Amino acid sequence: MSIYLDHAATTPLRREALEAMLPYLGEQFGNPSSPHAWGRRARAALDEAHERIAAGLGCGPREVVITSGGTEALNLALKGAAWAGKARGHRILTTKVEHHAVFHPLQHLEKFGFEVVELPVDRYGRVDSDEVEAALTERTILVAIGHANNEVGTVQPVAEIVRRVRASGPKGCLVAVDAVASAAYLPVDVTALGCDLLAIAAHKFEGPKGAGALYLRAGTHILGQLQGGTQERYRRAGTENVAGAVGMAVAFDLAVAEREATARRLRRARERLTAALTAVEGVEPTGHPKNRLPGLASVIAREVEGASVVVKLDLEGVAASVGSACTTGSAEPSHVLTAMGYPEEEARGALRFSLGRATTDAEIDEAVDTVPRIVAASRAAAAALAAERASTTVGAGVEAGSAVAGR
Ligand SMILES: *Cc1c(COP(=O)(O)O)cnc(C)c1O
Repeated sequence: MSIYLDHAATTPLRREALEAMLPYLGEQFGNPSSPHAWGRRARAALDEAHERIAAGLGCGPREVVITSGGTEALNLALKGAAWAGKARGHRILTTKVEHHAVFHPLQHLEKFGFEVVELPVDRYGRVDSDEVEAALTERTILVAIGHANNEVGTVQPVAEIVRRVRASGPKGCLVAVDAVASAAYLPVDVTALGCDLLAIAAHKFEGPKGAGALYLRAGTHILGQLQGGTQERYRRAGTENVAGAVGMAVAFDLAVAEREATARRLRRARERLTAALTAVEGVEPTGHPKNRLPGLASVIAREVEGASVVVKLDLEGVAASVGSACTTGSAEPSHVLTAMGYPEEEARGALRFSLGRATTDAEIDEAVDTVPRIVAASRAAAAALAAERASTTVGAGVEAGSAVAGR
């Protein structure tokens, strides 16, 4: 048995996208900036990719900048907006639960004198739009917010936050949305959301890795972050990844068309998996119970290390995660769970199971059967080990208290 339940880290490349890409990795190798036939064919493919992505976002093709992925789109949005807005102010609002692709560019901007305010979230990881409104000042130039959290699945009230910024914020204050985790599962119509900037990444919706896009509202000025040629209307220099753009456009088109059906199926599957997991003693769900990504089940299993459960699951052929793939390997507990109020020792028991469109019903049945059993076994093993340690330490008459406390 092998079941991939880590679609929040990345998804498989879907067949239709792969097939659409192949010609541009082969005989259609032209540079879209070249005036000859090879170049014109590549240009036509790239133009079509812009149109398809724009259709999925509900914007015009000129409002789409194709990038090398979510991280680059977010760097362009945040740094570009900050430097373009510098004359009006230096204050940037965000939340405590953002992805590192939002946090780290903002932390970088702090080195250059920008003030970054990280707003708190509630127990479910949601930011209160009243708090966003209250934090706006005349010098606020940017609000950066993740549409859905990639660790606990919580969806933020983006449209409401945008309304508050328009109503109470200074003129020219931009709202940038990280929709990388949500684009496959929730509507990301930029008119409905009302934002100025929005980032997506192809590999989170069964497109290729190394391709992403930034929606940039017409008339919005941001400073380019890559200087060189005139590609992407001067907003992103460098010869375009034509195959990547084509694959992303096909995958996005299909993801948007199938979104509702995918979400409905995954929601039921996730509810079943969450119910089976939380039936295990000491396991509780994390994130918002209703406002959440349909296919992301996140829990905390008390008294165990999530990382060791992930290893056990892997041995059984199940791919899961403790949280963000980008922070795996760091000893720090998740900043998201910490911001939600979980103490460090509880946050260490975090587990994330992210289903995707490619997850089959048979895999879900198998996961509902296997995963809770392994989590329960891990908890039993951890409890037995703790009891053994406590008794041997007590028997030896040394540091019984610290052995328990340090577990
Ligand atoms: C994956 C992810 C990113 C980073 O996108 P890449 O294309 O991997 O650079 C940013 N934000 C969120 C919420 C993500 O899930």
